[in-house]
Amino acid sequence: MSNNKSAYDDNNIFARILRGEIPCKKIYEDTHSLAFEDIHPQAPVHTLVIPKGKYVSMKDFAENAPDAEIAALLRSVAKVAEIKGLKESGYRILANAGADAHQEVPHLHFHIFGGKALGPMLVDRI
Ligand code: 5GP
Repeated sequence: MSNNKSAYDDNNIFARILRGEIPCKKIYEDTHSLAFEDIHPQAPVHTLVIPKGKYVSMKDFAENAPDAEIAALLRSVAKVAEIKGLKESGYRILANAGADAHQEVPHLHFHIFGGKALGPMLVDRI
């Protein structure tokens, strides 16, 4: 678990989903992670994978999570892509961090996009 709890907002939407206060369409769950469908999908497949621990960002996670939680989250991402049928066709993994990336929810999450050819990585280039 994070030792940076002061920076973590216990009322962020994913914290509330983890506590069962808000429903989600669950795709996968294990000891350390939860995957569920994004409420506003931006591709035919748009699934979110989050750690169950209280981590704001990749920096928080990398610095504070036990190795077992880091390994479990990465394995969950690959597993969820397979569950969603994307193993052969391919997919994109994205994690927004901070203001420039427009991170809306301050709980670390990976987006998994797929189900069609996804086009260029960024719309607005340099
Ligand atoms: P971010 O911009 O922080 O990387 O992405 C946050 C994502 O969370 C967005 O794609 C948004 O649609 C999704 N989201 C926001 N609120 C909810 C919610 O209540 N339920 C679910 N399933 N997804 C949500």
